[in-house]
Order: sequence, then C-alpha cells, then structure tokens
Amino acid sequence: MKKGCLAGLLMLAVVAAVPLILVASVFQFAGSKPAGGPGSGEPSALALADIPPEALAAYRHAATTVKDVPWWIIAAIGKEESDHGRSNLPGVHSGANSAGAMGPMQFLASTWARYKRDCGGGGNVYDIRDAACGTAAYLQALLDEHGGDMARALFGYNHAAWYVADILRIAASYYVQNLTGGGAGGGAGAAAGGNPMACKPSITQGYGYTPYEHPHHGIDYSCAEGTPLLSVVEGMVVQSTGGCPPHGAWLDGCGGGYGNHLVIGLQTDVGAGTHKYFVLYGHMDERPALDVGAQVKAGQIVGLEGSSGWSSGPHLHFEVDQDVPITTHSINPSPFVEADLRVPTT
Ligand SMILES: [Zn+2]
Repeated sequence: MKKGCLAGLLMLAVVAAVPLILVASVFQFAGSKPAGGPGSGEPSALALADIPPEALAAYRHAATTVKDVPWWIIAAIGKEESDHGRSNLPGVHSGANSAGAMGPMQFLASTWARYKRDCGGGGNVYDIRDAACGTAAYLQALLDEHGGDMARALFGYNHAAWYVADILRIAASYYVQNLTGGGAGGGAGAAAGGNPMACKPSITQGYGYTPYEHPHHGIDYSCAEGTPLLSVVEGMVVQSTGGCPPHGAWLDGCGGGYGNHLVIGLQTDVGAGTHKYFVLYGHMDERPALDVGAQVKAGQIVGLEGSSGWSSGPHLHFEVDQDVPITTHSINPSPFVEADLRVPTT
C-alpha cells in the first residue's frame, strides 16, 4: 500500500492552513522551562549579532529576577516591540505612541504602574534594563495566571495570535544553538545526521518528484506503528500539534495534513551558510511528546509513529524547511539523517 502524505496539489491549502496550525499549536505550550533556570542558555550566533550587548545583558538579568521567564522570550519581545530600543518610532525613547505605549518594551502607563521595576535605571520605562525587568514581572504574573502556559501568557501580553507566533519564533532563533555532539546515530549534528526512528526504517517515498506526489516535501520512513520517533538535531520545539485521530485518510486535513506533528527549530550550517531550519515530524499516533519551548537533544523521543492526518498507512513524514516553517521552503532533508538512510538528491 502506498504510504503517502502531503501532495503538491493541495500545497496551497496547506500553506493557507499554516496560520491556523500556529494558532492551534502555540496554545499547547505547557510552560516547559529548559533546564538550568531562566537566566541560563547561551545566546545563538544570531542573537549575538542582532541584540546590542547592553540589551542582551538587560534581558538576561531580567530573567534572573523572576521564576519562569527565559531571557530569550524577553529578548524576542524587545525585538518585536522596538528592535531592542533601536527604533525611532514615537514613544520608544520619550513620550508615548498613539496607542499610549512607552519605552523599548512598549508599556501602557497602567501596566507600567503595576509592573514598574528598578533594575539600574531608577524605574525608568525608557531604560531597557528597567523595561526588561518590568516585562519579566508582567509575563511571570501572566504565566501564574495561565498555569505556566507561555503561549497564553504572551497572548495576554498582546492579544494577537500572530504576535504569539512571532515571539516564539524569534525566541527560538535567539536561543537555539548550533548543533553539538550526541545523537541517535552517534552523529555530531546535522552534518553527520541521525536516525529519525528507533528502528531501521524503510523509505516508502523519497523527497521531491516522486511517482506519487509532485513534489513531495519530505521523506517518508516506515516501521511498525507506534515506533518511537527520535530527534536528529538539538533545538527547540517551535510547533506541537495534537488532537488528530491516530488513523487519518487520503485528503484528511487535520493538522494541515500533517496530523499530529512536531517542529523543531535550530540554527546551523547545512550546505551554504548558516540558516534556520525547521525539522518536522508528521503523522504521529498521538500528540507529540514535547510542548512548544521544550529543548530537544538529538536522540530524544519526540513522539510515536502513526498515520494521523493525510496518510494512508503508518509512517513518518520527515521534512526540513529552511528559514520559514512551511512546506514551500522545504529542502531535501537527507543531510539531517544518517548516510544509510539518505535518499539521492536527484
Ligand atoms: Zn510524506
């Protein structure tokens, strides 16, 4: 039996469904806090290049003043609100904008009155140190209110699903490290590659133009249903979607056709230059094993092989998208898997 999944014909429908997937998935964030405390976690190369040192120091210090808010979430808010204070829009450096927002973190006067902090600037909303601490305090309160759910907390910060998705995406790019050692196949990262399944899978469909789908955006691997799926990279979960029945069908659009699926974001060198990559595990049996924001090590179980979504039999749809987590940016994922699991590029 053919074990297919997303077809090129419905690619547009899938792209259109992506914002819905993000909206649905970000609300499943369970507040997983990476080990080592909120102040830890070394900035990625992109973070070091993009965040002015004084702002980065402010974010990292702010994270240490609260219980559960990682610095990279605060940093992502700083990026979104004022490009880390570099914006010259009204309200960033003085006064308020037309919506009443002030300072690098764009506080409303009423919110600042409640969460004003002095982290070296004397409680100044225009000082990135104080504003970052205020943001941390406000987010901590929202987290407490929402049972530790970061996506809901961020939604409380700014009532827009696109905002939540943006913040989590930026945060992932700031935090996710280049690949390090370890891994399912003993690999040292993407260049070496791992095995995405706890078995020796057969390839039931390759990447690109296949007899079944034109084009196919990933590689399909198959073992027995319920086989654990393993991360081949070290990164951060940026999407975690559940709620689809374990057995989908042809044209089943649950989870955008991917069914229960998980996306891991990372930044590394594969081929030409450093890019962000989004490694997708599709058609899981049940909801993924990890929530948005969770740190993943290579070799870690991310879920179980299933047949949810647009699928005609148990398999893993393994996809890698470059820079943007959607199907139209897919690349041949072969560099991310072990040599003997790769499919030819041509
Ligand atoms: Zn597939």
